[in-house]
Amino acid sequence: MFKRILVANRGEIALRIIRCLREMDIETVIVYSTADAQSLPVMMATYSVCIGPAKAAQSYLNQDTIIETAKKMNCDAIHPGYGFLSENAEFARKCEENNIIFIGPSSELIEKMGDKQAARTLMQENDVPVVPGSDGLLNNAEEAVLAAEKIGYPVLVKASAGGGGKGMRKAFNREELVSAFETAKAEAKAAFGDDSMYMEKLVLKPHHIEFQILADKLGNVTYLGERDCSIQRRNQKLLEESPAWVLDEKLRKQMGETAVRAAKAAGYYSAGTVEFILDQDGKYYFIEMNTRIQVEHPVTEMITGIDLIKEQIRIAAGMKLSHTQDEIKQKGHAIECRINAESVGKIDFLHFPAGCGVRVDSHLYTGYEVSPFYDSMVAKIIVSGNTRLDAIRRMRRALEELTIEGLRTNAEFMHLLTYHPEFIKGNYNTAFWEEHSGTIMKWYEEGRGEIENE
Ligand code: ADP
Repeated sequence: MFKRILVANRGEIALRIIRCLREMDIETVIVYSTADAQSLPVMMATYSVCIGPAKAAQSYLNQDTIIETAKKMNCDAIHPGYGFLSENAEFARKCEENNIIFIGPSSELIEKMGDKQAARTLMQENDVPVVPGSDGLLNNAEEAVLAAEKIGYPVLVKASAGGGGKGMRKAFNREELVSAFETAKAEAKAAFGDDSMYMEKLVLKPHHIEFQILADKLGNVTYLGERDCSIQRRNQKLLEESPAWVLDEKLRKQMGETAVRAAKAAGYYSAGTVEFILDQDGKYYFIEMNTRIQVEHPVTEMITGIDLIKEQIRIAAGMKLSHTQDEIKQKGHAIECRINAESVGKIDFLHFPAGCGVRVDSHLYTGYEVSPFYDSMVAKIIVSGNTRLDAIRRMRRALEELTIEGLRTNAEFMHLLTYHPEFIKGNYNTAFWEEHSGTIMKWYEEGRGEIENE
């Protein structure tokens, strides 16, 4: 097992990793930017090293400085968290070249799954259903139009190097497609330096269902159930839950086994997520594989009792998975709400919910200064209960207890969301935001939120 691990991230995920490593008796080195000097990860790690100014490009994304620090501090491994360098094949390769274990899959695997069109082809070859779409890349708008005529409108133009919803455009007819193709391509070029494009049929009102998998370097692959992440705003997930209400046991098993087949087809190891969309007829399609630990991983931890970060570290150290598929059970129901800051500045007073079935992953504390340089997510409230309704009631109670003074957040909005009839019925898909956020906003403006903090 490792003796010392460098944590190349910040915020709640850095804290999550440091806490886990402490329980495993492994020393930690946190690298941080000047903006994060007063952060909890810096206070809680065994060692901390400032690697640059607030701008991520000069600190958290500075590959060479991070590698140099790992070497200087005698670290055996680097945990990249999510975001930043977590799915950067070049960084993983530099770790490999410097004999530092990258806690994640190999650079080759990151590259393989990061090229979405190539991943699609690989899945097709292995009987994993993919959304009907173009064969290979589309070089220009004419090719896109021809492909769309074959597939049938509406279509979704996607960047092969895409992520975070960038480089993706819908088109309902030929005219829209020509401009959608050009804008998506330009956006992909600017965001990823790669404008390879492909196309999928636009599935109307699908569910976003993803399966958590764990795979070791010895060829064992397991799935740990799914998460429904259909409540999204501009492709950003806001609330995730497990189990997904739309799946019955049969479909769950079928999709889980497909996720395992997808991972095996790639020769995958580490923790990973296989993302599917599920259409209105109950047909599911692979959309992509994420090769990192995800924001919403605690939802799965709450219902399986398995520490995913710990497993990820054990796998990186070459150990066998600690559970067989038969030993993995989904128990009860878990929901996560992402709390996002809508302003920046100092937290005057903070109180987090606690009690039975509540988990809070956050780097906030009273007096902490939320900086404008990084992601706006400041806390994750995760609850579990025996039934979905228990979990919903617990989430409401937890959000009512949450008090963050000095910072505007979406907490009250999330609280109101848990009262929406379609959410309560579990009757929602990726169109939820578009269809219902207006109603929730109206309740919000009417002051129907029950949370007293500002
Ligand atoms: P990114 O990596 O940019 O997030 P994804 O391929 O994961 O891109 O897609 C992001 C979201 O877009 C999915 O969660 C889903 O809601 C929607 N989406 C993706 N592909 C399709 C499709 N073919 N039809 C309908 N919606 C889709």
